[in-house]
Amino acid sequence: MIDIAVVGAGTAGMTAAIYGRRAGMEVTVFEGNTYGGQIVATPEVENFPGFEKISGFDLADSIFRQAMALDAKFVFDQINSITKKDGGFVLTGDFGNEYEAKTVIIATGATNRHLGIDREEELTGRGISYCATCDGAFFKDKVTAVAGGGNTAVEDALYLAGLCSKVYIIHRRDGFRAEEALMVKARQTENIEILTPFVTERLEGEGRLSSVVLKNAVDGTEKTIEVDGLFVAIGQVPATNAVEGLVETEGGYIKAGEDCVTSCPGVFVAGDVRTKHVRQLATAASDGAIAALAAVSCIKMQ
Ligand SMILES: Cc1cc2nc3c(=O)[nH]c(=O)nc-3n(C[C@H](O)[C@H](O)[C@H](O)COP(=O)(O)OP(=O)(O)OC[C@H]3O[C@@H](n4cnc5c(N)ncnc54)[C@H](O)[C@@H]3O)c2cc1C
Repeated sequence: MIDIAVVGAGTAGMTAAIYGRRAGMEVTVFEGNTYGGQIVATPEVENFPGFEKISGFDLADSIFRQAMALDAKFVFDQINSITKKDGGFVLTGDFGNEYEAKTVIIATGATNRHLGIDREEELTGRGISYCATCDGAFFKDKVTAVAGGGNTAVEDALYLAGLCSKVYIIHRRDGFRAEEALMVKARQTENIEILTPFVTERLEGEGRLSSVVLKNAVDGTEKTIEVDGLFVAIGQVPATNAVEGLVETEGGYIKAGEDCVTSCPGVFVAGDVRTKHVRQLATAASDGAIAALAAVSCIKMQ
């Protein structure tokens, strides 16, 4: 039986594997795609300690190699369900394979919701970003826009306003879901302009984004804004299918504090799929370490 089954080979899951192996545990990481998670497609990461600048793939690859050197096992199988059995857990993979484990760390991450319009994929990393904290610095003194009406969108706009010459907030309704305190700040910030009720209709630019065509949600008229960057902040979709009914969730995320302990004894959660405020590589790595050490303690107490 596996001591620690880690579901997801992103930064959180691979860090958990490193800590679990160094504590002498049998660790298997299950990954439904390729190892590395969300960061692999990002050309530049500039905020992970120890690397002034590194591509997302190289960073993921070095964490993977570190885990492999410690003899963590990687099984490329999508986990579809996790059930309790005889004081442990059974994980069921895509082809019906079953894996038994004493403890489980869920590190399945989340994906950013996309606008779903033409050229979005092509221009991602070429002006389109889903993370202002990650990519804002690349747009210093430039003109950017944020699409979205929740707290994240307005917080992103306020953050970008400190870096960019101008920031538009594009929202499809006149009313915002963001807290009023944030809205007051946004309205008082000189270089923020709020554009409502507009939807992002088209993306333009040769090789990289240069303008966005907006469509008025009421009268259908179009308006073009010239921007260097568009930050899409219309929500995330946490990957929790495998743990439905097993652990408590809140707003779609697996509920746990900084100790990474879920509502189900023996199941821990790490990274972007956990209820938390800052979803970044550094916090994913931190969670991975905490969850692994919590799983180790749990096993030692069994
Ligand atoms: C475009 C972009 C740029 C970013 N840039 C930065 C940056 O510069 N700096 C920074 O700090 N952060 C950045 N981030 C955020 C950072 O990537 C995330 O915070 C981090 O990847 C979270 O790691 P994670 O391990 O929790 O989840 P993820 O990276 O999402 O990894 C989860 C893994 O689990 C796998 N998985 C999901 N469900 C299952 C299942 N049922 N069975 C098996 N496997 C499963 C997925 O395939 C994936 O590999 C960026 C994010 C994006 C999208």
